[in-house]
Amino acid sequence: MTPERLEAITARANAATKGPWNHDPNSAWRIYGCEQAHEYVWADSEGDEFPCVAMTGIKGQHPRSPRDAEFIAHARTDVPELVAEVERLSQAETEWAAYRKALVELHEFDELVFGGFICPRCTDSEDDDPVPWPCDSLRAIGVTDDDARQIILAYRAAIKAGR
Ligand SMILES: [Zn+2]
Repeated sequence: MTPERLEAITARANAATKGPWNHDPNSAWRIYGCEQAHEYVWADSEGDEFPCVAMTGIKGQHPRSPRDAEFIAHARTDVPELVAEVERLSQAETEWAAYRKALVELHEFDELVFGGFICPRCTDSEDDDPVPWPCDSLRAIGVTDDDARQIILAYRAAIKAGR
């Protein structure tokens, strides 16, 4: 979802009548002015008024559409909750990407003259057997063989470009 779309959804939610909204199945007949509605959704009272925000169903016909009314009533609080969750997850994804990038840089590969890649960071000393790259640390954050190929290609492209 683009930030623009999320902004538009947030703007619509903020512009709508304040919540919470309510729905009481089969009670449309009790509200003056809503007698013909099959189901209605109303906002919390502001003084003596109970603003009717939506009516569902077809006048004089069944079904009464209580599920539609329920959905509309809950949208008042569900939509802002979902927007907040999308924002939280987007932020977490951004942080994770930065963390992953830093870890990949920390465990940068070394290409051996006779072929193969090792992780100098995970290889204790020159006396020990070299740890193959991608190492367990990179595997643990989900670096696949495909990712490893991409990292190597990006590294080589950067060298070629003189960076
Ligand atoms: Zn490593």
